[in-house]
Parts: sequence; structure tokens; C-alpha cells
Amino acid sequence: MSAISEVVQRARAAFNSGRTRPLQFRVQQLEGLRRLIREREKDLVGALAADLHKNEWTAYYEEIVYVLEEIDYMIRKLPEWAADEPVEKTPHTQQDEAYIHSEPLGVVLIIGSWNYPFNLTIQPMVGAIAAGNAVVLKPSELSENTASLLATILPQYLDQDLYPVINGGVAETTEVLKERFDHILFTGSTGVGRVVMMAAAKHLTPVTLELGGKNPCYVDKDCDLDIACRRIAWGKFMNSGQTCVAPDYILCDPSIQSQVVEKLKKSLKEVFGPVLPIMCVRSLEEAIQFITQREKPLALYVFSPNDKVIKKMIAETSSGGVTANDVVVHITVHSLPYGGVGDSGMGSYHGRKSFETFSHRRSCLVRPLLNEETLKARYPPSPAKMPRH
Ligand code: NAD
Repeated sequence: MSAISEVVQRARAAFNSGRTRPLQFRVQQLEGLRRLIREREKDLVGALAADLHKNEWTAYYEEIVYVLEEIDYMIRKLPEWAADEPVEKTPHTQQDEAYIHSEPLGVVLIIGSWNYPFNLTIQPMVGAIAAGNAVVLKPSELSENTASLLATILPQYLDQDLYPVINGGVAETTEVLKERFDHILFTGSTGVGRVVMMAAAKHLTPVTLELGGKNPCYVDKDCDLDIACRRIAWGKFMNSGQTCVAPDYILCDPSIQSQVVEKLKKSLKEVFGPVLPIMCVRSLEEAIQFITQREKPLALYVFSPNDKVIKKMIAETSSGGVTANDVVVHITVHSLPYGGVGDSGMGSYHGRKSFETFSHRRSCLVRPLLNEETLKARYPPSPAKMPRH
């Protein structure tokens, strides 16, 4: 058995021991993760600086704070979300108990990407722990300092068998994908997403794919361009442009194009960043047509003082998520599922959606061993005549 197989088998044996079933255990693990972040924050910030030159402020506000918030939210909501959920009954099941019971899936694999190496690996892990799973982490090899720090410190704060970290590059990811998992959450490129899904198909493992795409940003000519351009520049140029939900191109009326360019240039002087193409469209309809002719993006942005413009854009296009009159911030709301659609991915997570993604919602009907008389019509022999209602 390879070293990777052994690690996965150990996680499965730990899951099968049943110790993740009590909510109290899951909460303890989440508290351990919170303690890890608080006590090792300096190490995390140092690793993020070594990998990506993030300063302390960006490391904290772009990577760490949302994980802390997610942990707090998950701990607070877990009893409510994990409780059995009674459902409406049919006339024939009135004497029975019918409910949905959330149970853990088993062993979950989370594969992270390099651009937010802490957040995009640990935030999904929060939901997977809360749902009672064992979690195998495969951080990106391109952010090697964060990857090796996670492998060192996670076992110091969490159960040592349930949450292993596997490090390495494509060869190791290929190896780990041969193992059987009960769910795989992958963040990365669309091309590798296909590789992951093919490997998962062998075991009929469900996947959540958090992929890329080109995110449009429509700027209505009636909006306050100073505010719009400042907000767009903030989202576009954070993390040196390496944000999957950053606006990738602007669609605007030719009459405001030069102003948009000037105002973005002004904001750019304050940050370095990548190219932001600006395309002219003569109407909202043309912008919608431009967007719908392309693959469905991960995020879509629309700036307008007119609510009808915003609602029309939302109604007539598709994307993983939308923010109107700002960029990126829809992903910071824990009650909004985060994920793509079409080429930008499938499935989603964050908050309650994470808990659901990593749970099986099991249909339960509990019938009393009574009232046999009422069931007698279902047993043979069939009546000679069909009963009429
Ligand atoms: P990537 O797809 O190259 O790599 C991601 C992971 O897949 C790494 O851990 C790597 O080891 C593994 N991998 C790479 N090639 C593989 C192969 N052939 N077989 C098996 N495993 C392989 O992505 P990346 O460069 O780390 O990240 C950039 C991409 O991620 C961009 O496309 C970006 O848009 C996307 N992204 C999406 C989100 C999101 O939340 N939707 C967030 C960040 C980044």
C-alpha cells in the first residue's frame, strides 16, 4: 500500500470509528481550528508573505478573517442545521414520522489552489468538519510554505487521523485522486476540473468544482463613475489580480469609455495590477447579448443607479453569483452559497450550503408497528374490482 493510500485508509478508519458523529466532537474540532488560527497567526502570515508577498493586512483580511467568521457562524448554527427536519406528510403517512436526517458523507478530499492558499483550503474544511466528515487536504504545491505549515500545525490542534494533509505536486494529486472518497471539492482551473471529475467518476464520487472564467462587469452610463471605478479597481487589483471573482472585463457605453479609463488609471496609480479590457456596448441589451454568448462566468457585476437595469441584467444572464454596485463582496456573505455554473463550476459552499454540501440528507420514514388493518389493501390477493375514489 502506498503512503498516500495509508493516510486515506487511516482517515477512513477514524471516520468509521464513529467519533465524528456527536456534534460536541465536531464543535471541539472547530474550536481547535479557531485556536490554531489565533495562536499561529504570525506563522500563517509569514507563510503567506513567503509564498505570495502578502502583507499582514492583506493576509488577515483576504485569507484569515472569513475563515474565523465561518467557524463562529458554523458553531452557532450547527445544532439548528444538524437537527432532524420534519417534512409534510401524505394522507397515507399521517400516523408516521417523516423527516430528513443530515448525516456525514465519510471521507472528503479538498484540493486547493495557490492564489488564496489558506482560505480556499480551510474555509471548505470548516463545513466538512461541521458536517462530521474526515477531511483529506491537498493544498497547492505552488504555495509551498503555506502547504507545509498546514501539514505541520493541523495535527497539533485537530484529531491526528481524521484530517491529514497530503503535500506534493501533480504526481501526488494524481495519486490521491485514485483513492475512493465520498466527496471531492476542487478549486482550480477548468481543465484540471475535468481531470478531477473523471477520476471521481470511477468511484461515483460527487464533486464540487470551484473553477475560473471571465467575469463581466457592466457599467451603466448613468452611474457615479468615480464610485464605480474605485470599487472595480479595488476588486480587480486585489491580490495582484489573482482573484477568481475579480472583474475580468468592463462593458460600457462609448460615451463614458474615456472617463472610465481615466478614473481606473487614477485608482491604478495607488496599486499594481493586470490588464482590464474595456469593451464598448451601445445598450444594456447588447451587454446582455455579449455576456450570454460566452461561457457562464463565476461572477457578474453591474453598476447602475437604476434597479430595473440591475434586475434585468440578473434575470437575463447567468453566473455563479452577482454583486450590483460593487464587486467581489457577495462571496463574503455566509448565507449566500459560493460556487460557479457551467464552465465556472458546479456545486457551492459557504455557511449552511457548506454543511449541506458535505452532508447526505437522508429521507427517514418511521412507521409504528400498529394499524395493520389500514394496510391490508396492499397485500395479495388483489381485489376483483378496482376501488374508485
Ligand atoms: P490548477 O488547476 O492548475 O491546480 C489546482 C490543483 O490541481 C493543484 O493542487 C494541483 O496540484 C492540481 N493539479 C494541477 N494539474 C493537475 C493534473 N494534471 N492532474 C491532477 N491534479 C492537478 O489551478 P491553480 O493554478 O492552482 O489555480 C488557478 C485557477 O483556479 C484559475 O483558473 C482560477 O480562476 C481558479 N480559481 C477558482 C476559484 C474559485 O473559487 N472558483 C478560486 C481561486 C482560483
